[in-house]
Amino acid sequence: MTFAGSGDGESGSERAHFVLVPMMAQGHTIPMTDMARLLAEHGAQVSFITTPVNAARLEGFTADVKAAGLAVQLVELHFPAAEFGLPDGELGIPRLTFSGFCGFSSLVRYIIFHNNLLEHVTDDNELITIPGFPTLLELTKAKLPGTLCVPGMEQIREKMYEEELRCDGEITNSFKELETLYIESYEQIARKKVWTIGPMCLCHRNSNTTAARGNKAPMDEAQCLQWLDSRKPGSVIFVSFGSLACTTPQQIVELGLGLEASKKPFIWVIKAGPKFPEVEEWLADGFEERVKDRGMIIRGWAPQVMILWHQAIGGFVTHCGWNSTIEGICAGVPMITWPHFAEQFLNEKLVVDVLKLGVEVGVQGVTQWGSEQQEVMVTRDAVETAVNTLMGEGEATEELRMRAEDCAIKARRAFDEEGSSYNNVRLLIQEMENKTNACG
Ligand code: UDP
Repeated sequence: MTFAGSGDGESGSERAHFVLVPMMAQGHTIPMTDMARLLAEHGAQVSFITTPVNAARLEGFTADVKAAGLAVQLVELHFPAAEFGLPDGELGIPRLTFSGFCGFSSLVRYIIFHNNLLEHVTDDNELITIPGFPTLLELTKAKLPGTLCVPGMEQIREKMYEEELRCDGEITNSFKELETLYIESYEQIARKKVWTIGPMCLCHRNSNTTAARGNKAPMDEAQCLQWLDSRKPGSVIFVSFGSLACTTPQQIVELGLGLEASKKPFIWVIKAGPKFPEVEEWLADGFEERVKDRGMIIRGWAPQVMILWHQAIGGFVTHCGWNSTIEGICAGVPMITWPHFAEQFLNEKLVVDVLKLGVEVGVQGVTQWGSEQQEVMVTRDAVETAVNTLMGEGEATEELRMRAEDCAIKARRAFDEEGSSYNNVRLLIQEMENKTNACG
């Protein structure tokens, strides 16, 4: 993300103009559209850089900000941007980054990178203690970022990360009260300012904008809401693995059988359709019929936030992408954690061990992208047990629920007027305006 000043044309003082350049993946673009809205609501001007193809997916966002009269413009650029011949680092523009990580995971990533922690570890199952972490944290190499899923990606990521570390500050889609210790430690160790301005998804105040978030859903939203309205509060479990995770067909079937065995109502977002004939075949071969009285299957893109925040939802099976995790926290529902790759295993640790807002389903390693991996990592029994624990009546479950509700209240307080994130947006804008004005 870069920043430039622009005059407001009247007072002569500079009004902050943020130029947002998201990485082209839904997990980055979506929170940055929320960030754009948030900054503009606080008086800043925002240019949102994207490609024509991605701009088409953002029609809902563009229409919303226009209707709200916010100073947000979408700027379509053809890639590669280098063709524009921009000068390298000569303009004195303060640079902020947004990695999409929470403070906890950013800190782990920093420590791993700076200590070359994984270099000499040959056994994927060896437990590694993260040195200098403010609380005891042990993970196997198989669960640490660095064990990424795309061959050849590691070097590119390292270069990107080195560049990130040279920036003037970092924006995080989290809130201070959620992970104060880790955010402060990260600021100290990385020697840079971290602006927690989230949960940014809270900038959506009605189901119209939550429904249009990220992409158009293939199903009728009204029908989905009607289905949810017909369910008892807190009775439905929502299952979704984000926009990138590639769960194997075998694992999808096993998960479905676990959901069926749990006998709990569910909404399940899956990648099915013609590209996944095995899954389609299995769904049609009795499964959909057997669960039709209590299960809704969404193929493709779901209006996740709209669903999660409905009162019928009582639990969330998540892949622990940070956006999904923070959206789950805002929904005030406990989670079943099912990480697939990247920093998702770290987010799982934060959710389960630190915040105590959920239970692990028991994934032991990365789900490789695009591989012919056949094995089932999580059995139907493990799914059934986790769902019944989360949606059951026991004392431990009740405590999970209470903590989740309490955390959601804290999230809203942080985001609302005079809360820590609200104040951070203002301070961030102010600091950028001061810097620009100082540059003349
Ligand atoms: N999302 C959605 N509908 C879907 C899948 C994902 O709205 O069917 C949204 C979800 O609410 C979140 C983002 O896409 O805002 C996914 O980001 P996350 O960091 O959770 O995971 P990623 O997709 O990057 O793995």
